[in-house]
Amino acid sequence: MLIHLREILKEAQNEGYALGAFNTSNLEITLGIINGATAKKSPVIVQVSEATIDYAGLKPITHIVQTIAKSRAINIPVALHLDHGKNFRSIAECIKAGFSSIMIDASDLPFDENVALTKQAVDYAHKHGVLAQGELGAVVRDISQIREAFLTDPDQAAEFVKATGVDTLAVSIGNVHGIIKMRQGVPKLDFERLKAIYEKVEIPLVLHGASGLVKEEIRKAIELGIRIINIHTEVDLTFTQALRWTLIKSPEEVDPRKIFSQAIKAVQKIVEEKLEMFGSVNL
Ligand SMILES: [Zn+2]
Repeated sequence: MLIHLREILKEAQNEGYALGAFNTSNLEITLGIINGATAKKSPVIVQVSEATIDYAGLKPITHIVQTIAKSRAINIPVALHLDHGKNFRSIAECIKAGFSSIMIDASDLPFDENVALTKQAVDYAHKHGVLAQGELGAVVRDISQIREAFLTDPDQAAEFVKATGVDTLAVSIGNVHGIIKMRQGVPKLDFERLKAIYEKVEIPLVLHGASGLVKEEIRKAIELGIRIINIHTEVDLTFTQALRWTLIKSPEEVDPRKIFSQAIKAVQKIVEEKLEMFGSVNL
């Protein structure tokens, strides 16, 4: 069932587990994510990026997620979220399309400008009953690029949350986006920083770039206030690897349903593993 993020986030916050937020870009990945959540009896966030909206169109991708949530996940809560909204227009369009949560990512701007743009998006979202996520600090794409200056400062985080009214905050605590880090080994998270941030802001925190992180790190992060965990790279990696393998193994196969079915199953499996790790299963 399609549900407002507020409902499942409240429970995650009360019970102390994290929600998995998985990126989709098409019908098949959406099926894999929602099948995984249904098999594990877990709530789930399905999120799309602006790049996916450019690729698939806002209405088609929104309808795919909403329809699958309603028809296949009968008692399983599915929330729809915009990941890394960079401009006000796409945020407004997603809200109009029925998203219950948006992210405004102005983290590449100076603090004051980040506050101003985030506040504008938060006010608009709240006026329409939608949750808003902001980001403070920069999540880089290469472990060697991590600098102290990019990490989220706990005092600044408190100021940011107070000034903008965000419902959730994406933090930079050594986490890294993208595929490059998957070959570099596991980034080390700064748990003291995470603890200090959570103590100051007391709102649910979001961990981006969580692909590849081991169970111990994930569990510790949840213990210290992470309530949403974004998995994008591992979903894409799993999907494309399965697809590549099928095409190589069955070069004569021309039925797209047969070609995609292994990739859908592979996404389902990785989603199930993550949901177990996040502690949101069998609810
Ligand atoms: Zn991200």
